[in-house]
Amino acid sequence: MAVLNPELLAILACPVCEERPPLEQCGDYLVCYTCRRAYPIRDDIPALLEEEAIPLDEVNLPPEEEAR
Ligand SMILES: [Zn+2]
Repeated sequence: MAVLNPELLAILACPVCEERPPLEQCGDYLVCYTCRRAYPIRDDIPALLEEEAIPLDEVNLPPEEEAR
C-alpha cells in the first residue's frame, strides 16, 4: 500500500470539485467521496488529474474501507 506524508495528504484536495473537498486514502487510491472519483497513487505520488480519475464504483477497495 502506498505511503503518503500525512502533511501532504492534509493539503491535497479533489481537483474536480469546486469546493475542494479533502481526499481520503484507500489502499493505493485517494478517494473523493463528493464526486466519487478515485485517484491512483503511483510510486507514492498521487495522480490528481481528472483524466486519471477512476469512478469509485470501478475500484476494488479493501472491504473495511468500503463499509464507510
Ligand atoms: Zn471530487
